[in-house]
Amino acid sequence: MPRTRPPEALPDESETRTWAEQLAADDSAYRAQLTYLFERSAFYRDKLTAAGLGSAVAAGGLGEIAGLPLTEKNEIRATCSRDNPIGSHLCAAAAEIVRIHSPSGTTGTPSYIPLTASDLDNWVTGSARSYAASGVAAGSRVVTTYNAGPFVAGAALAALDRIGVSHIPLGTGNREQLMLAIDLLKPDAVVLTPSYAAYLVEWAAGHAMDLAGSSVTRLLVAGEPGGGEPAFRAKLEEGWGATVTEAMGIGDIGPSLWGECEEQDGMHLGARGFVHPELIEPETGRAVDLEDGASGELVLTHLRHRAAPLLRFRTRDHVQVRTSPCACGRTGPRVRCIGRTDDMLIVRGVNVFPSAVREIVSAFAPAVSGHILVKPRDTGVKQEPPLPVSVELARGASPDDSLAEAIRERLRNVLVVQAHVELVPWGSLERSEYKSRLVQR
Ligand SMILES: [Zn+2]
Repeated sequence: MPRTRPPEALPDESETRTWAEQLAADDSAYRAQLTYLFERSAFYRDKLTAAGLGSAVAAGGLGEIAGLPLTEKNEIRATCSRDNPIGSHLCAAAAEIVRIHSPSGTTGTPSYIPLTASDLDNWVTGSARSYAASGVAAGSRVVTTYNAGPFVAGAALAALDRIGVSHIPLGTGNREQLMLAIDLLKPDAVVLTPSYAAYLVEWAAGHAMDLAGSSVTRLLVAGEPGGGEPAFRAKLEEGWGATVTEAMGIGDIGPSLWGECEEQDGMHLGARGFVHPELIEPETGRAVDLEDGASGELVLTHLRHRAAPLLRFRTRDHVQVRTSPCACGRTGPRVRCIGRTDDMLIVRGVNVFPSAVREIVSAFAPAVSGHILVKPRDTGVKQEPPLPVSVELARGASPDDSLAEAIRERLRNVLVVQAHVELVPWGSLERSEYKSRLVQR
């Protein structure tokens, strides 16, 4: 009997209004946010005044946003002190703060992420839209592998309650528990990082476990780029016998801001109305129009945030944009993350993302395992060719000069980069149960 699509999986009405209507609504929210920042944010009052914009009126509306300065994470961090460990962008009184998250994966001084009750509610609403886009609905049985601990990703778990799924939280690094839960509880969906999903495919193959034959029909991946790379995604879909969709957030702005629908053609902005997206050229900071096919670094602005709103925050996520209509009915630009700006290398003037290298290499499966490591010789972003790339062979495969040559050739033709390809035996590159490292620094 064909399964009818549950109504919860359909977009809510705010997701189907035209993008022009969305921008019109966002413009007034943005102007109110600017007024709030001038009243309460020492950080933005100083920053905007220094840029020659001494009032909310002078800063204008969304149409003028590209004229405002960008915000870097380090600027915020520089304002943190023992007296104000959150930073001078804090706007809300202590009594209004209901949650303080810590960022994941950062080193040095922590930069805390405070939320008011309405901020938290908006986070949950946006995340719930992103997850619902992927097709999970009331009655779905969903296993998650993120910890509801200090990190922002944990806050997204409340979105599953909002949708009304049957939630099985297992937390990070609990492989035996996860396999047991899949076997016994027969979930429909698993939420995990793409690296972990790939790791489990390999692990299952080595332990005679039939993942592809399990109850899991959806994988919701997030936490790092890669879940949208076609060859990598195909490997996950084959290994799990499941549809892969991805979600993406950024700690300082919100979790699971973007979520991909079942059309699998990029992520919709679940946090629409709460967050305004822009693109810039990472090297120059120049604004790039959100047009079909455009690519650049994603820059996000809070529209209704109260605790510590951010303006034009550089996410360091490099995305490609699609604006063609989506069959699911959701409107607005969709994005596919192609890598972190921080991982980008410039090889004789050409931008190269390690994730793009992995994508090219993965197409040589089954000869290769899909694991790669880019080993830059120079410490900075700019690299002299050839770029050293270690490519791991498939289990049992032996090195073959013609394979290395074919990969080198493909990298040169597709990415316009000269690489030195070194084939290494199966199992010699690091596996991750959380996020993969594609560049050796
Ligand atoms: Zn869609």
